[in-house]
Parts: sequence; structure tokens; C-alpha cells
Amino acid sequence: MKDSYLNFSHSKLGNLVFSALGLTIAPRLLRYKPGDSLVKTSIILNRDKHVSIVEKCFPESQISIAGQVSTQTQALIFDATDIMTIEQLNECHVFFSRQLKQLSSNGRVIIVGKTITNMMTISQASAQRALVGIVKSIAKEIGRQGSSANLIYTSLFNVENIACAARFFVSNKSTYVSGQVIHADINVNNFSVHAWEKPLQGKTALVTGASRGIGAAIAEVLAKDGATIIGLDIPAAKEALSEQMKKLNGQSILLDVTQSNAPANIAEVIKDSLDIIVHNAGITRDKTLKRMSYQQWQSVIDINLACVARINEYFLAHECLSPQAKIVCVSSISGIAGNVGQVNYAASKSGIIGLVESTATRLAAQGSQITINGVAPGFIETQMTAKIPLMTRHIGRRLCSLSQGGHPEDVANAIAFIASPNAQSLNGNILRVCGQNLMGA
Ligand code: NAD
Repeated sequence: MKDSYLNFSHSKLGNLVFSALGLTIAPRLLRYKPGDSLVKTSIILNRDKHVSIVEKCFPESQISIAGQVSTQTQALIFDATDIMTIEQLNECHVFFSRQLKQLSSNGRVIIVGKTITNMMTISQASAQRALVGIVKSIAKEIGRQGSSANLIYTSLFNVENIACAARFFVSNKSTYVSGQVIHADINVNNFSVHAWEKPLQGKTALVTGASRGIGAAIAEVLAKDGATIIGLDIPAAKEALSEQMKKLNGQSILLDVTQSNAPANIAEVIKDSLDIIVHNAGITRDKTLKRMSYQQWQSVIDINLACVARINEYFLAHECLSPQAKIVCVSSISGIAGNVGQVNYAASKSGIIGLVESTATRLAAQGSQITINGVAPGFIETQMTAKIPLMTRHIGRRLCSLSQGGHPEDVANAIAFIASPNAQSLNGNILRVCGQNLMGA
């Protein structure tokens, strides 16, 4: 979908008009393109304690310690893992008040905090929790320059735990992810870093709803990262799906996920175990609850939530997934904030968050290395959002720190990051891909 307001504001004439009227001009966001460098190349770190680990995470970048240089930089990393008291939070002020002035547009800020546990003192837990307020506010402050800020909580500051999340956040693959908190605290045994260029080489991924929109982008990005794709969609989407799969050298499954025997039918087609499953298929049937028919309620709950639960249950019980498989579910910010006319949709997407969290806990308790995480997109330009009335659509796009809608590839890049074997330390996360949308923030 075209965002004519955004496009006009970026034209010469539009720029003049917007400036004269004092209207906000949304930043031009840089998105990763194959051939670009994967991560930003100049990074400033607040202190030297973990510098050797940061250097291992970013072997291609130049890492400097704050105070050593004062030139423009592309990324700032603040290691807050040793902050033990409320008083020590002042270190954040000292670092950011100076360094934010040097941050380039489309720059990146990452804070690495220590996972909050009940073993901490009240002062330490308060200080560590304060990092959320700091990162979300910085994200709002720098959003106008197309820059973003995100927080990683970890139990151990080591390459295994943080490299994947840190590299994603310090790249143009995370352009539309800002103000988010991710927990990278599953301590991983036998971890070896997979290639950053094609991390999914040799992996097989099933993507539901793959014929168009976000699903088509997910299939494309996972394929670019090296995965063999199995795309699934309803029989009515046959042509679009087979075209898409032909492009990616993938396999099609034409099937409605609501069929009672869908999990068994999918398993039969796939035969070998899956390394990645992305539950992307979804629908909206918007109406205020007073006017919503039972069918509108039920179909949304069934497709968006019940089918996901049924497929996971079957696949886990019948060992259709490889030992370190990654399950990724697609939620929505409507599931976090609720939305007028979307009680059915919000319920289904909120339910997905519960499903991710409880499945993650169970898998970890069983000692399984299979992980499950989710993404919650905000306003993404697809055929689904094209159905929203014009004015509501325009407002929907502006309601975030980056003042524009996201692209399907933004969600796809976040999913590829979570589905990477390098992301083994993530389990039970819901990552919003919403440009720091105000809804439910
Ligand atoms: P879309 O309508 O463009 O695509 C959805 C796909 O799912 C279609 O290919 C459709 O045929 C398929 N599908 C629907 N019912 C199915 C069924 N019963 N069995 C198999 N396939 C089925 O939507 P989109 O915008 O690309 O959204 C993709 C996902 O992202 C959905 O889960 C949606 O809820 C979620 N999401 C989208 C946005 C957004 O702004 N577009 C925001 C938040 C969340």
C-alpha cells in the first residue's frame, strides 16, 4: 500500500509545505538490502569490562569505548549489567547525555541489562527495571531521526546469550523495531555460532498464510537466509502460492488450517522433521461486539488461535519438529492493547501471547531445546490493513515513534532473527514490530 502522505512529505515540494506548516516529517528509514553490511560498523560502548565479548559479537565493526572518540557513530551499546543500585543509574545519564548527540540518523541504541530475579536487592531490581523506562524514552526521543533503542535482559553477558539479539538490533533489519525489551536468558549448552550471512542453511521452514502479505515476505526472507520453504495457504490462494513457491524453489501445501485433520495432513506431506514453523495465517472480521455475529467471532478465534494450538500440540506429540526447532507465532499489538471493533481479533492475538508464554515454560521444564517466541506487528502495509477506512488508516500509520507504517519485510526480518539457530537463548518472548506504536506501549 502507498502512504501518499509520507511520500509527499519526502518530495521537495512536500518538504517545503510540511516545514512551513510545522508538520512532522517522518524519517526516511534505511532497510537492509542483500549486499549491505549486516550490522552498523561504528559502535561506542560505555565501558571496557565486556569489550572482548562485544568484539566477538561484532567482528566486522569498530568498537570504541566512550571518551576515546567524539565523532559521529552509528550505534551505542550501554552495558548496564553491573548496575546494582538506584544511584548507579546516573551512569546512564552521563553516557547518553553526551553520546546521543553523536548518534547518526538511522542509528541504534542498545542497553544490556541483567535479568531481574527475586535474588536481587530492591535497589538493584528497581535500577534494572528502570532501564525499561530509559530505553522506551530514548526510543521516542530519537525516533524522529529514524533511530531506535532496544533493551536486552540477560542472565549472562556472553556471546552465546546476546550476540544474535545484539546483532539484530544493531542492523537495518530491525528498522521498525523500537522501544522493545527482549529476554535472552536461556543459557545454552553446545552453542556454536552459525554463519551470520546464511544462518538457516540446511533448515526446513513451514510458513502458514505464505501466498501474500507478511507470510509471503517471511517465506522470502527465510529463503534468502538459506532455508528450504514449505508454504501453506487455503486452496483459493493456489495460484499466488504456487507462484511464490516457484520463485523460492519451495513446496506448496494447499489446505485450510481449520480442518480438523489439518495437523496430521501437514505432517504427512512434510515427512521429515521441521526446523522452523511460522504460524502466520490470520484473518480479521471487525465489528463492534454488539454487532458481531457468532460466525465472525468464532472464525477469527479458530484460525488465529485454536488452529495454532492444535498444530503445535500435534507436532510436539508426534515429534514432527527437530530437537532445536523454532516455533514462531504472529500476534498483534491489538492483542496487547485491545482495539475498537476487534474483540474477536484481540482475543485471538492475546491468546497467542498466552500460548507462547505457557508453551515456552513447559518446553523449558521438560528440558527440551525447542523454543517458541512470537512477534506482535503494529501497522504493517498489507492487503489486510488496506481494508481499513482511509482516515483511520492514515492515523494508524502516524501513531508510532517513526510516524509511518511498517513493511511486511520488517516483520519477516524479526521472525528470521528469532528463527535463527543463533537465537537459542530466546524463549517465550513477544517482540513487537511496530515502530514503537503508542497502542499498548
Ligand atoms: P493477509 O490477509 O494479507 O494474509 C493472511 C494470509 O493467511 C492469506 O494468505 C490467507 O489466505 C491466509 N489464511 C487465512 N485463513 C487461512 C486458513 N484458514 N488456512 C490457511 N491460510 C489462511 O494478512 P497479513 O496482513 O499479511 O497478516 C499476516 C499475519 O500478521 C496475520 O496473522 C495477522 O493477524 C498478523 N498481523 C498483521 C498486521 C498488519 O498490519 N498487516 C498487524 C498485526 C498482525
